[in-house]
Amino acid sequence: RDLAVLDARVSGCRACPRLVSWREEVARVRRASFRDQDYWGRPVPGLGPADARIAVVGLAPAAHGGNRTGRVFTGDRSGDWIFAALWRAGLASQPTSTHVGDGLELTGVRVAAAVRCAPPDNAPTPAERDTCNPWLARELALLPRLRVVVVLGGFGWTAMWPVLAGAGYALPRPRPAFGHGAEVTLSGPRGELTVLGSYHVSQQNTFTGRLTEPMLDAVLSRATELAAG
Ligand code: SF4
Repeated sequence: RDLAVLDARVSGCRACPRLVSWREEVARVRRASFRDQDYWGRPVPGLGPADARIAVVGLAPAAHGGNRTGRVFTGDRSGDWIFAALWRAGLASQPTSTHVGDGLELTGVRVAAAVRCAPPDNAPTPAERDTCNPWLARELALLPRLRVVVVLGGFGWTAMWPVLAGAGYALPRPRPAFGHGAEVTLSGPRGELTVLGSYHVSQQNTFTGRLTEPMLDAVLSRATELAAG
């Protein structure tokens, strides 16, 4: 219930003028191409149950993916990758996510983005990342069983440390370098939390082979192993 309240609040956020303008302009221009759908054009909340032991944190919604459907990672190729991988890992009820109400259910995992509004060129500014960070902090705080955070990409990796510091976790100095398969275990008020790095499921990684399905599966397998411990 608290997550539902948070989801409703984040959906109404207008704190970043550039992103508010962009997300709404995209929705206005593209709505005509999707007449059968209610083009979202607002911040995209996270998805998954409050008893999740794993969180997966991406970069930001795509203009015609989450920004269109209103559900994180839903409706674009990045989502095709992550939901198929979650399904293979036993964390999703189906391998695809096309629209709200398509039957998808997540088990043991919450999926969210470091920045909740679609940015131009998929590139939020550091200031926008910092402005959006409190939403991620509140979301993770509402997952009392959280044991593992899988961070997709270096942008989310950078966004994660102030969130975890604010939650009382002791952070190593210097900050751990991002890499695929990077693993950092932290101690905090709720016990141990492990942060895992993965290349982002963006097309520039998946089309080029920088990120392969076995590579993503290996990170999620490690996450489920840690979450079960
Ligand atoms: Fe609000 Fe985050 Fe969207 Fe900025 S990016 S307007 S902080 S939801």
